[in-house]
Amino acid sequence: MTLSYDELRALDARHVWHPFTQAGTAKPSILALGAKGATIYAADGREYLDMVSSWWVNLHGHANPAIAQAVADQAGRLEQVIFADFTHEPAARLAHRVCKRLPEDLNRVFYSDDGSTAVEVALKLAHQYWRNRGQHRSTYIAFEGGYHGDTAGAMSAGHSSGYFEAWKEMLFPVETVPFPATWDGDQDVEAKELAALDALDMLFSTNPDHVAAVIIEPLIQGASGMRMCRPNFLRKLEAKVREHGSLLILDEVMTGFGRTGEIFACVKSGITPDLICLSKGLTGGFLPLSMTVARDGIFEAFLGQDLSKAFLHGHSYTANPIGCAAGLASIDLLEAPSCLERIKAIEAIHRRRLDGLKGLSNVAHTRLTGTVAALDVIGGGKGYEAVVGPKMKAAFLERGLLLRPLGNVLYLLPPYCIGDGELERAWDGVEEVLRHLAK
Ligand code: PLP
Repeated sequence: MTLSYDELRALDARHVWHPFTQAGTAKPSILALGAKGATIYAADGREYLDMVSSWWVNLHGHANPAIAQAVADQAGRLEQVIFADFTHEPAARLAHRVCKRLPEDLNRVFYSDDGSTAVEVALKLAHQYWRNRGQHRSTYIAFEGGYHGDTAGAMSAGHSSGYFEAWKEMLFPVETVPFPATWDGDQDVEAKELAALDALDMLFSTNPDHVAAVIIEPLIQGASGMRMCRPNFLRKLEAKVREHGSLLILDEVMTGFGRTGEIFACVKSGITPDLICLSKGLTGGFLPLSMTVARDGIFEAFLGQDLSKAFLHGHSYTANPIGCAAGLASIDLLEAPSCLERIKAIEAIHRRRLDGLKGLSNVAHTRLTGTVAALDVIGGGKGYEAVVGPKMKAAFLERGLLLRPLGNVLYLLPPYCIGDGELERAWDGVEEVLRHLAK
């Protein structure tokens, strides 16, 4: 039985609960029929350029034929197998391929399903690492404005606006230090970095031998507004964590797989974490999959003759073979020289178009790292509650652009397959809307 467009929308409205949505006031969802490259085709005949890579996951375009083929082949061969006692080729090969691109010591992959669970695993591993070594370390340090996901541990480590208010009694306390967010022409960056490092020092000295780990989104804090810091700060942060004998967790759920212009933000910054969380781009945007990669030394602390030191954690779909096959196909595409060239081309267009907006009275704090461009829009409020956000979103949708401002922060984070012409068209739309708002 085929259903009409209206019938499908009615079913959705009756039965489906959408994330981050106030169903009481939300407009009916746009019904996507298909997508190709950077374009999403809606049932009402409209087309949308996906300028947010569908929540930052898509790298090589929707319905990429190479990944689609790998998924189909794997689904016909081995769709899923229990991941205790068993393993499979895509899991072993994908772990190897990712580890080859990470700093040398990071060699042990623990698979899970999404960004939140990758972070949850990292927090639990850090805790048990110390326990296995006979120490009780329960203090975690995170950065103001950080977002690490929506499960309880990830929310505890996060510090994102009022979004977690409803569950604050469920969460465990985490110490926070300022994030030295910077932008084009920022004169205060050194002072902000020093203040962050001083705050860190203070926490280490008031909790000697108690800090299990420091967690950070390296180079770009995503959900809190594409706030960017310098590689130099990350190097100083790593040195500080080493000096105090704690662990460093990098949450590269968003920044991984080329987003920052390098394969990983840690590679771009020249640092080696103890644990790194990867997801989103891992499968090129096809399937939910994630990994938490640990240094060899962390893994070794879990070895023993019985279960007491083992990591007793897992998920039903751990290391799903179809997801891993998608991951392998995506990495093949990512490693092709043409992909790197696209990333560079996107960055160059972003730079030129951002610079072109600097004269507008309602534009501030332009910033760019790799394929992520962002700016603050002045007027219409600040933060997630800013009224200018939904207003801009509606204006962009009217122009066939899928852009979701984070409050008053406007950002472009396209899939790498986007053509120069498509990207210029998106920036034209951005410029038009900003000029209109500035009047
Ligand atoms: N960590 C970071 C840095 C993220 O940006 C996100 C999602 O936006 C997450 C973790 C959570 O990932 P997921 O939504 O896949 O659970």
